[in-house]
Amino acid sequence: MSIKIGVIGTGAIGADHARRITKTLTGAEVIALTDVNLAQAEKVKKDLNLDATIYADGHELIAKSGVDAVLVTSWGATHEEYVLAAIKAGKYVFCEKPLATTAQGCQNIVDAEMSAGKRLVQVGFMRPYDSGYKMLKAVIDKGDIGTPLMIHAAHRNQSVGKNYVTAMAIHDTLIHELDVFRWLLDDEYVSAQVIFPRKTPHAHEQLADPQIVLLETKKGVRIDVEVFVNCQYGYDIQCAVVGEEGIANLPEPQAITMRKKAQLGNELLVDWKERFIDSYDVELQDFIKGVQAEQLTGPSSWNGLAAAVSADACVKAQQSGQIEAIELPERPTFYR
Ligand code: NAP
Repeated sequence: MSIKIGVIGTGAIGADHARRITKTLTGAEVIALTDVNLAQAEKVKKDLNLDATIYADGHELIAKSGVDAVLVTSWGATHEEYVLAAIKAGKYVFCEKPLATTAQGCQNIVDAEMSAGKRLVQVGFMRPYDSGYKMLKAVIDKGDIGTPLMIHAAHRNQSVGKNYVTAMAIHDTLIHELDVFRWLLDDEYVSAQVIFPRKTPHAHEQLADPQIVLLETKKGVRIDVEVFVNCQYGYDIQCAVVGEEGIANLPEPQAITMRKKAQLGNELLVDWKERFIDSYDVELQDFIKGVQAEQLTGPSSWNGLAAAVSADACVKAQQSGQIEAIELPERPTFYR
């Protein structure tokens, strides 16, 4: 059965997800689109040659009986209301991160989903679908490096625009690390601290860049993450897990090594869309399969809530300069 999908928000990632559903994945088709900028929705419809209806707003799209499942890829601030509306309509919903912009917003979604009595929400955390992270987790789980003691990680972007301010280093960038380390280590965070090294001249006035985020987990693992969003040289994700008996590194993306102009090397990626392109495909295919089977197994609302609670503590730590506690409520059996 082909799942009929409606897309709310047809900007960068919404258009890209509509493309992958239409051109790459199986089992689903985009039959409805909406965006505050209707011309943008029209453009996506035309570019992908979709047989889709454009709706005036997300609520109208969610209410349509022909729409089986919804993709929420609009601005973060709009996610909560659309996800709650989809749950109320009893429809499956794939929501890009953040699930909601506040921990309370995520809790509202968790509460609504539990009241609905079944999992309806998958959050767009794609790193657990990345083949490199999967290999890293397999090595950790097999015990090849012994018990993990530390993680050294980095999240670097070539540059960001003027609207990217200091807190976004947490809510928009670090959020992926906050999700993936819980999964990698099967552990929860207990505290966060943020340190600001000397500022790069490539960052604008409202942005402290780079930043180092220090996390501690319940099992005592210490994690340092460098977030450097004007690093100039490319888009670069690093993760080294230090265990009792060895170190496991996240593999570099595949690239051709070239001998050229008296140098030996390979090109680095600059676009985040390219770095995790395969994992976006796998995560969305998993969502489609989950809808078909009426059983979602991907990152849940609980993962969205855990990331939001952790992110709030990190932002508090940015502002206070202190070590801040991360206090996640007890995980309900519904999400075990
Ligand atoms: P974007 O290019 O700005 O696209 C967002 C689109 O949503 C824009 O076309 C915007 O319209 C539209 N929009 C805003 N409010 C809306 C509403 N109430 N109803 C319908 N459409 C609305 O942003 P993006 O980069 O695609 O990001 C979208 C979301 O995906 C964000 O939450 C972001 O954090 C997330 N994201 C996740 C990843 C990942 O790696 N998982 C990567 C990128 C983005 P106008 O701009 O025309 O006003």
